[in-house]
Amino acid sequence: MPIVSVKPGCQFASDNTAPMSTGAWEALVQANRDCQSSYGDDPWTARACNLIREIFECQAEVFFVFNGTAANSLALAAMCQSYHAILCHEIAHVETDECGAPEFFSNGTKLLLLSGDGGKLLPDGITHAVERRRDIHYPKPRVVSVTQATELSTAYSIDELAAISDTCRRHGLRLHMDGARFANAVAALDVPPRKITWELGVDVLCLGGTKNGMGVGEAVVFFNKGLAEEFAYRCKQAGQLASKMRYLTAPWVGLLDNGSWLDNARRANAAAARLEQGFRAIPAIEVLGHRQANAVFARLPDPLATALRAKGWKFYDFIGSGGSRFMCSWAVTDADVDALLADTRDAAGAAR
Ligand SMILES: *Cc1c(COP(=O)(O)O)cnc(C)c1O
Repeated sequence: MPIVSVKPGCQFASDNTAPMSTGAWEALVQANRDCQSSYGDDPWTARACNLIREIFECQAEVFFVFNGTAANSLALAAMCQSYHAILCHEIAHVETDECGAPEFFSNGTKLLLLSGDGGKLLPDGITHAVERRRDIHYPKPRVVSVTQATELSTAYSIDELAAISDTCRRHGLRLHMDGARFANAVAALDVPPRKITWELGVDVLCLGGTKNGMGVGEAVVFFNKGLAEEFAYRCKQAGQLASKMRYLTAPWVGLLDNGSWLDNARRANAAAARLEQGFRAIPAIEVLGHRQANAVFARLPDPLATALRAKGWKFYDFIGSGGSRFMCSWAVTDADVDALLADTRDAAGAAR
């Protein structure tokens, strides 16, 4: 598959700077050849649902929405009542980047924030949050939300997830997984998707398509099918039922049918590994955390960061990491990484 090379200036700011990957684009073109039924009653949507079931090796209920904020907040709303609480990491996307949508769509369910290294929740933190208050005056914890891969480019191992899941079961909590970068976690851990989801008791997964190579779209995958009851109404009310659903689902088919979802994730992770290795050889740079997925976090001296930005490189200073985030999309090439590293070495030399 040809790799689209991105021009310097946007490629390390976000995985959303990448174009659509070839398979996704071609499926879209194919879906545009004829007329089809609307609102998801079409062969593309059926095929996309079945491919997701094949990849997870189970009979899940699958819904398609436009973006991750909708996927997360509608899924969470389906998992609890308004007087409940959702336990999540303090830097979880649902807390820091969804403008209160999880609270809004659940009619006020409170997010309770927990800490933990590498963007990961710990079983003890969950237990503490449940046990510190059990009275009627406090919102009742009902859901745990984990992000896989995490916002800090780590991935929960099977054992870590199993321990969280056991804790959830012990306290009557449901388990939600924000999988905006689920493919990157699968690639990093090299495990079958079922081993880090329903086999461990994940009730609902929000499966990312956009960052994985689609133009638009995320899937909400209910392994706990009871929770999917009336979910279609939730989607419709929230403006998330696509009338020409096939244009949302055909790219899923293009991505999933030939394994390019995993190829894309592997490529993104490999680009990050290359960048990390290069950064580690530059004394002025401190690589932060323990990267497993497709973002590299690093502390750069201010003059170096400024010099790189002046050369047209874009990257964010990331809350929660104390450094800069270099996000590698599936479309980042070795040449892109090497160009950034060359400029970084030059700028670091000049600043010395
Ligand atoms: C990108 C992302 C999402 C989805 O964000 P939208 O902009 O709403 O599509 C959700 N969770 C995480 C961890 C993300 O990085």
